Parts: sequence; C-alpha cells; structure tokens
Amino acid sequence: MKTAHFHPSGEIRVTEIPEPRATAGTVVLEVRSAGICGSDLHYLHGKNPWGSTLSWPRRAGHELAGVIVEVGPEVVGLEVGDRVGVEPMHLAACGRCGTCREGHGHVCPDRGLVDGQRWSSAGFSELDVALASHVHRLPEGLGFDAGALADVYACGVHALHRVADRDLRRVAIVGSGAIALTLGQLARARGAGLVAMVARREAAAVRARAAGAADVTIVSSDAEESGARVRDLMAGVGADVVFETVGGEGQALDTAIACAAPRATVVVLGAFWDDVRLRYALANRKELDLRFSNSYGEWQQVREYALALDELASGRVDGAPLVTHRVPLGEIRAGFDAALDRRRSDAVKVMVHPTGGIPFQGAP
Ligand SMILES: [Zn+2]
Ligand SMILES: [Zn+2]
Repeated sequence: MKTAHFHPSGEIRVTEIPEPRATAGTVVLEVRSAGICGSDLHYLHGKNPWGSTLSWPRRAGHELAGVIVEVGPEVVGLEVGDRVGVEPMHLAACGRCGTCREGHGHVCPDRGLVDGQRWSSAGFSELDVALASHVHRLPEGLGFDAGALADVYACGVHALHRVADRDLRRVAIVGSGAIALTLGQLARARGAGLVAMVARREAAAVRARAAGAADVTIVSSDAEESGARVRDLMAGVGADVVFETVGGEGQALDTAIACAAPRATVVVLGAFWDDVRLRYALANRKELDLRFSNSYGEWQQVREYALALDELASGRVDGAPLVTHRVPLGEIRAGFDAALDRRRSDAVKVMVHPTGGIPFQGAP
C-alpha cells in the first residue's frame, strides 16, 4: 500500500510499504479522508509539537476517517464495511495511572505508548490500523471529511469544557484557522454571547463570519490594536474568555493577553514551535487565569470525540465551510504547500483522500 513518509529535510515521499494486518483488539481501515493539521506542518521543519523524540522518516495523519476492511480478534461491535472516525493513536493512554483513573487519559504521562511502543495514526496512507477502542461509527449521513474533522471539533469541545466554570458572555478567539472556526461555531451553538475573532487577513475574517464562527471579526496582526478593538466591542474591558489558537512562532499569546478583560481566562490551544515569552506584567495586572487545552479526552464519562460527532451530525455545527482543499495522496505535497501558505492559498482545512474520496456531506 502507499503511504507518505516525512523526512527531516522537509521532503515528503509517497512510498510503497507492506499492508498492515489487524492484531488482537485492532482494526484496519481504508482511509478515505485525512486532514492536514497545523501540528503536521511542524514535521516539515523537523520539529515535534508533542515534545517527544521523533524517529525519521515519519508517517502522520491523525485526523482520519474511513471504512473498516479487517477486524482483529477480540474486537466486538465493529464490522468490515463500517464507516468510522478514529481518535488518533497518539492519544492512547495507559489506562492505569492516577491521571487515567481520574478520566484524564489525554494527559497521561505515557500517552501515545501502547505496550511500550510509540504509536501514531498514519492517515496519510491507503490503510491504517487503530485500536478498536479508538474507533467510532460515523452517524448516518455524516461523510468522511466531516468524520476526519471530528478530531478538530473534539479539540474545540474540550477547550469549551476547560472553561465550563466561566461565563461565555464575551468571548475572543485569536486566530482564524480550523481550530478557531470550530471553536467559534461550538461556542455560538452553546449559547455564547458575543464572539469576536481576531484574524490576520480580511479573506479569513470573511470566511469566519460566513462559517458562523464569529459575530464580529477584527483584522489585525498587532496585539495592542487587537486588544483595543476587542475592548471597544466588549464593554470597554475586553473578553471574559479568550482562546489562543495560533501557536507557531508569532505573538498570538500577547494578542490573547491584550484582548482579555481583568480576571479573564486565557485558554491556549495553539502549538508553539518553542517555549514562549509571557507578558508577565500585563497578565499579572489583569490577574488572568491561564489554562492550556491539550487535545481532548472525556467529559462526564463520555468521549469528547463522540460529542463532536454528535454536534456535526445534529447540524448544530457545520464543517463544510472549513474544507477548502482536497488532494489525492500522490499530491500531498501540494496539499501541504497550500496549508503552509494560507496567505496565498486561503486554505483552512486541506483534506487528503488516500483512496479517492467523496464530496463533503454534513448533517442530513
Ligand atoms: Zn490535529
Ligand atoms: Zn495513564
């Protein structure tokens, strides 16, 4: 079968490797859609946003959906032919430590290790293997692109759960990528008051409003200017909850802190390339509450991934406007180039269709 190999030089080569087989407790799926995530772009620079040491060449693609083609021994409830979405294998938890027992396996110290081996999903392949416990049947009428996006929406669901104790009357979102759009849609579907999104480009702001991800958009790449404009919109004080979704090497955290009202909560979702400086004096003066939101796990004993599938299937959120590009596996490089240069391509989510895909289907 074909798979994409990432090399530390930034090169991506599509090569032939042996087909995987299902072992006990696992299934093999034919991958129909696999989204290119901002964190995948780090691999092109030889970096790893998850902090662990990488072995090269590396395979990737953790936002995936497809059709089960083989079911291993001891798997119950899944069959060949099932259309499924996958909770990526880098989120597999040990299930035994104190953190896991408290229901927070997404931050298990041994996350991503299965039987002592590091395991990541490799959706940029014709076939991929997953633990059956990480596989969810797609609700009727939900297409494979939407299934692949469930991973992104689950990150948004989790980030909102991180501020379940906070009032969502005034929300600011820094960034206008896929995570920002999912968060904006989810926050508004869950009754947020005013949602303001800070984008760096006018085209991205227009898309965010069209996608129903923001009530109002601000186009600026300057932290002070963004903060002043958010204050103008929000009772002169700023947002009660700010989500930072950009990461990279920019000063998105500065912008988030500038947009925050005194005693606000800033939630960091962005994956930064290195440790970042914090504007201590301003954050301290405002007495901000800084929280991180890492992937997703469970909420009140329900998988947040399953909650994301429900949100998509119900039509309360709509992933369709997020998918701007679709490429076959053989053109994955062009897909990555589009994702890397959003200014030129206006890409939000680039979907790779390793085995030929079908057009986006949202809720019925
Ligand atoms: Zn991702
Ligand atoms: Zn654990």
